[in-house]
Amino acid sequence: MGSLPFPLVLRDDAFAPPEGLHTYYVLAANGLFLERHTPLFSVSVPAPSGVPGLHDHAPGLRLRLPRVPAVLVERAVGFFRAVWERWEGEGILLLFYAPSLGRFALGAPPQVLTGRIEHGCFRAEMHLDYLPCPAPAADYLCVGTMHSHGAWAAGHSAIDQHDEEYEAGLHVTVGHVTRPRPSFVASFVVGGSRFPLDPATVLGRFERARRPLDPWFDQIVLRPRDGAAPAAARDGGRR
Ligand SMILES: [Zn+2]
Repeated sequence: MGSLPFPLVLRDDAFAPPEGLHTYYVLAANGLFLERHTPLFSVSVPAPSGVPGLHDHAPGLRLRLPRVPAVLVERAVGFFRAVWERWEGEGILLLFYAPSLGRFALGAPPQVLTGRIEHGCFRAEMHLDYLPCPAPAADYLCVGTMHSHGAWAAGHSAIDQHDEEYEAGLHVTVGHVTRPRPSFVASFVVGGSRFPLDPATVLGRFERARRPLDPWFDQIVLRPRDGAAPAAARDGGRR
């Protein structure tokens, strides 16, 4: 701090404008500001280019999470494929990890598919609302999500409205769910910053879709836009 050409002060509870200084920087909850006081004006302005005399700092990520086992990836794809084939909808699963056990688990959160009734069948829009779900056991932490883009590419940004909902963690999107080789996009998101990842570095190698767990489907609610009552997926909506 002593080597800075202009002092940097924190805008904390103890903050008071430094006496006798004509130029200094203020680090506040809402960013960095430059303060200047001259005989003719006093001004406080945002200082987006930083503090003179400090070094640059770069964003970075070092992930110490093991790869998600292929069997879980394959079961997730089985779930996403079924949701697409039944309702042309997206699905989402939460990814849990127990550091003490070195084990992953998937859980289906309560999720609502909004759509319309066509010829007596529910057809989802590419939109999904979901709520958190409890971890499968005490040692497990929620470390991310996996969700699907149906028959579209995993990286299809026009249909991805989930970015702003992401908690800190690993977020995987699965596309082309009916193909033998679905597409995967992975990123790690923290505080609104996104680190794109090579899916092969975080996911086991997909070979074939596996049967999803039946209770996952109990978490799906179908909500028609035409005013019909929402229905639990298990009560109907199949082709
Ligand atoms: Zn999406």
